[in-house]
Amino acid sequence: MNLRPEEISSIIRQQIEKYQAQIEMRDVGTVIQVGDGIARVYGLEACMSMELLEFPAPTEGGEPTLGMALNLEEDNIGCVLLGAYTHIKEGDTVKRTGRIASVPVGDALIGRVVNPLGRPLDGKGPVNSDKYRPVERIAPGVITRKPVHQPLQTGLKAIDAMIPIGRGQRELILGDRQTGKTAIALDAMINQKGKDVICIYVAVGQKASTVANVVQILTDHGAMDYSIVVSATASDPAPLLFVAPFAGAAIGEEFMEQGRHVLIIYDDLSKQAVAYRELSLLLRRPPGREAYPGDVFNLHSRLLERACKLNDELGAGSMTALPVIETQAGDVSAYIPTNVISITDGQIFLEPDLFYAGIRPAVNVGISVSRVGGAAQVKAMKKYAGTLRLDLAQYRELAAFAQFGSDLDKATQARLTRGERMVELLKQGQYVPMPVEEQVMSIYAGVNGYLDDLPVESVLPFEADFLKYMRASHPDVGESIGKTGEMSKDTEEKLKAAILEFKKGFVAKPA
Ligand code: ATP
Ligand code: MG
Repeated sequence: MNLRPEEISSIIRQQIEKYQAQIEMRDVGTVIQVGDGIARVYGLEACMSMELLEFPAPTEGGEPTLGMALNLEEDNIGCVLLGAYTHIKEGDTVKRTGRIASVPVGDALIGRVVNPLGRPLDGKGPVNSDKYRPVERIAPGVITRKPVHQPLQTGLKAIDAMIPIGRGQRELILGDRQTGKTAIALDAMINQKGKDVICIYVAVGQKASTVANVVQILTDHGAMDYSIVVSATASDPAPLLFVAPFAGAAIGEEFMEQGRHVLIIYDDLSKQAVAYRELSLLLRRPPGREAYPGDVFNLHSRLLERACKLNDELGAGSMTALPVIETQAGDVSAYIPTNVISITDGQIFLEPDLFYAGIRPAVNVGISVSRVGGAAQVKAMKKYAGTLRLDLAQYRELAAFAQFGSDLDKATQARLTRGERMVELLKQGQYVPMPVEEQVMSIYAGVNGYLDDLPVESVLPFEADFLKYMRASHPDVGESIGKTGEMSKDTEEKLKAAILEFKKGFVAKPA
């Protein structure tokens, strides 16, 4: 037989060309229906779930509008549009990008404000990162994790003492509107200065002015140097609000896998759930309880599961998540709050009554818990604050009872006195996070009764002056607690003596 190599190679070449042409065909579809930010597209059989699709640009030569495929149905694809969509009409062509929705990740993002697709919102030029990660990823498995064992200090006495958070933990912050939820998250971020923790603040469905305010506060306190803000505001399309927390998680995972520590705040997940409900209803997915789609639990659990503490082989990085949920009239048994309570490792419940009574942070200690953070709490703190939660809960009950004005025995009176002073001591202003050694010193003074003979309104001034005095005259006490995390016998003696010494001078001063 006579074989001619050039003939064979030309056939192969032809086939390769045709083969590619076939793929091309399948990569372009047409819009068959569009409206309310949703488009149905025909002819994209190979499209992947969460894949980005290119729709025509709103203006000639402009950037194409992106869409994301969410419903892969038998003969068409339901996708959400991630930008201006009023110009899109039936019959328009849609191109696959072959990319799953992803965000740029890495150090280039630190100090930046970006949207959920990684486009800069701070006017500081493009984000110089060539590494992308898909926004959705399966959470690390059990084997790759390690129990939570390092503390993540928020700098807030009420939380670090009673509801301690560990690195890799998921702790929910929930409460009605305007009860100081964001304030707690911001203080926790500001307190990470110099602690090698990268902070990510994901703003979902807030006003653009509120987000700008948060960025300003973080900048003013030097926290933007190690923080990233991912923002999808109330005026952005619902799909961006839905994607934002996932994008934040993807950015955090990159650092976690490098063995670094990350603190991520989702402010707030109620708005993400509402956005998800909106797009699910538009995609005609069946509604369930409170008209949320049946998989809204999965939405939040697959997001929050991604926060974890990795084991030593994987670099021992961690991602701590503080999701925020807004309740209506303190109703924690509504659908979304109960879901997220059951997913997280504890919750910090904020109450409007306490907030308006001036007890800020307005933490309701009775129903706030941390299920794993105790293992990570600084030893000295654990020793002195161990029973504080219970004592305060008992105090609340007694105080309610004592209102009836019946005669009280000595022991009850003493409890009330102590309780009042502890409640006062746990109050803390905004943006003044306190290092753990100072927290231990002031709680030590409180639980050992050194404040009992002070008028309630002098407790906070006493604390401030006392800590100033300790920094100036006995810096070794704080250093020792800070360094070892423990209160040695020797240090305790010194602290006791210092408190007594300081009290002499303080009481003499007119209140
Ligand atoms: P929203 O529901 O609007 O998101 P929020 O629950 O996040 O509200 P914040 O915005 O954090 O609440 O706080 C509400 C107001 O209370 C703010 O003006 C804030 O400055 C003030 N505030 C919060 N915490 C404290 C505090 N510890 N001391 C004094 N003021 C505080
Ligand atoms: Mg808020």
